[in-house]
Amino acid sequence: MLVSQYDSLMVIVSIMVAILAAYTALDMAGRVANATGKVARVWLISGSVSMGIGIWSMHFIGMLAMSLAMVMSYSVSLTLLSLIIAIAASLFALHVVCRGNLPFRRLIFGALVMGTGVAAMHYTGMAALMFEPGIVWNFGWVAVSVLIAWVASGVALWLAFVLREGGKHVLWLRAGSALVMGLAIAGMHYTGMAAAEFPMGSHATHHGVNSQWLAILVTVVTLFILAITLLVSMLDARLQARTAMLASSLAAANRELAQLALHDNLTRLPNRILLEDRLEQSLNKADREKSRFALMFMDLDGFKAVNDAFGHHIGDRLLKAVTERMEETLAGHYTLARLGGDEFVLLREIDDPNDAAAVATSLVNAIEKPFTISRYELLVSLSIGIAIYPGDGTNERELMFNADAAMYHTKNNGRNGYHFFQPSMNRIAQQQLQLINDLWQAQENNELRLVYQPKFTAPSGPILGFEALLRWQHPQRGLLTPDQFLPLAEKTGLIVPIGNWVINEACRQLREWHVQGNAHWSVAVNLSAQQFEQDSLVATVTQALRDHQISPALLTLEVTETTAMRDPDESVRILTALTQMGVNASIDDFGTGYSSLLYLKRLPASELKIDRAFVKALQAETEDATIVSAIVALAQTLNLKVVAEGVETIEQQEFLTGLGCDTLQGYLLGRPIPPEQVPTLAHYVLEKVQA
Ligand code: C2E
Ligand code: CA
Ligand code: CA
Repeated sequence: MLVSQYDSLMVIVSIMVAILAAYTALDMAGRVANATGKVARVWLISGSVSMGIGIWSMHFIGMLAMSLAMVMSYSVSLTLLSLIIAIAASLFALHVVCRGNLPFRRLIFGALVMGTGVAAMHYTGMAALMFEPGIVWNFGWVAVSVLIAWVASGVALWLAFVLREGGKHVLWLRAGSALVMGLAIAGMHYTGMAAAEFPMGSHATHHGVNSQWLAILVTVVTLFILAITLLVSMLDARLQARTAMLASSLAAANRELAQLALHDNLTRLPNRILLEDRLEQSLNKADREKSRFALMFMDLDGFKAVNDAFGHHIGDRLLKAVTERMEETLAGHYTLARLGGDEFVLLREIDDPNDAAAVATSLVNAIEKPFTISRYELLVSLSIGIAIYPGDGTNERELMFNADAAMYHTKNNGRNGYHFFQPSMNRIAQQQLQLINDLWQAQENNELRLVYQPKFTAPSGPILGFEALLRWQHPQRGLLTPDQFLPLAEKTGLIVPIGNWVINEACRQLREWHVQGNAHWSVAVNLSAQQFEQDSLVATVTQALRDHQISPALLTLEVTETTAMRDPDESVRILTALTQMGVNASIDDFGTGYSSLLYLKRLPASELKIDRAFVKALQAETEDATIVSAIVALAQTLNLKVVAEGVETIEQQEFLTGLGCDTLQGYLLGRPIPPEQVPTLAHYVLEKVQA
């Protein structure tokens, strides 16, 4: 036998190549698994080519590492065949690994095919050695080498399958697995080599391909191919990660957009659009499954007062807290939406109307408990209207409309509760709608009127002037008072043109009285919040004064305390602009809002009007008496005139005069009257004073 020795450097190189080939194989498995269609096929083919070349050159270099006492030469065709077998085995292996799953039976089958392939490559390569009389095989070692090939292939397939998806430590895991696989492949090779014995006197039959440089060439070419494959794979992975990142951020942006478009910004609840969609789904489902659902319209009572008194910031926080409490109360499958402001809608499946009543009751109970926002304790309540499908409407529009009507019914009947829709409610809602329509025409049709209530120097005269109070002479319904239509005017914004008309008309009337000989009379006009916040207010007032030649000192603008304290800084600015013209400002309904003394001091008003609720309850020695006297004292300190309104009895008149009120107004001294009656009133008062 010839003594075969191994060139240890080349053995090491062959093992390194094996490890690198294994790493490439694992990497390729990842590529193929993560790609689809044509790209996956390109990776499969190029991956198996480089992996096959890797395995084959490991084997080839390993053979070259063996230096026999003779010079070896190879059959080119068999060597090529062994290369093709290596590539085919790799192709098969990658294909197996990149399927969606790897059941045990397929793993075993794959391991057998791939292991047999590797062994076939090895022994074909050995057969390519050309010398005589030929190798003597030790079949025990051959069997061991084939066994190793199967086991190594099984392990390799399994590792490649597990690691193909990528993950957290995939690079290290792959490197470790490549080491194991590389060593296994090398182990198979060197076992196979041990099976071959080269008889003494063997000699090369041809001088075929025979060179030392072959080893170097094969190594370099293989390393080059593997390196290129890995490099391209890395670049591709990077590109893919980038694309994936872009795609996912695009998806996130889309989700965000959908969220914004379909949800309310403040509470994150579904908005009207999403609600309508859900309502449509509920209608379809109820028709299909013959089931029922309830649509509940909900509106907070007292929210506007909180908003006005504490500002939008606190109002917003209250809305969020209300939303949270509702969500805590609700269970099961429902849609809670916010339509804007303090309006919420609940859509919920029910078996029975009693279910809806139970839900409504628990919501009402939950909201009526005080809310603590910032350092304030706030009280609001909930008014609910319920429409049930089927029954209270046949489509979305009708259901919404009817639930809304039922909600208004609750509002008009003590609030803080719920009502089921009833057809009669529709008439009321319809009437409101009609009234809004009529209001649009009212100004054009000259249906608006002003009545005038005299203001007296305490205790009983003379008359200082009049407060202009709005009335609507409705063609069908007769004379309407402000509480019947002002809320609608405010809701529709019509209050602004109407209010401007009031200012002008009051000035025109005052001019008439001046001409008639009452040159010292003044007039007071009420401003609503919206009107007060109009930029054009100063211009409107200036114009009216100029048109009717009224001295500004004879016009008083009444703003309620609540309006003035809504945005105190802004109020100071507006009132300053008005009073600089010489107009008087009066703080109306004083005592009902949440005034801050600090701002009261800064407001350039000249008059406080004590709210008539205090006057009404007035009796000596009561709490209200204390409050009124405190207000009078406060007003005197701030240099403000005090007007008491709603004076109905002689006791009130005497008591208020005693406290130091400057001006009195009320049914006792004079009711609001149409302007044509004013001269007779003046006449009468004059007579009374003279008498
Ligand atoms: P206000 O400014 O507090 O007006 C006084 C209200 O008290 C008037 O009701 C008046 O008729 C009523 N009143 C006067 N004396 C007595 C009395 O002795 N006893 C009782 N029980 N009531 C008395 P009215 O005319 O119904 O007006 C109600 C509210 O509507 C007004 O309250 C004011 O806030 C608003 N308003 C009236 N006219 C206008 C207007 O032209 N523009 C605006 N923005 N608001 C107006
Ligand atoms: Ca007033
Ligand atoms: Ca008042």
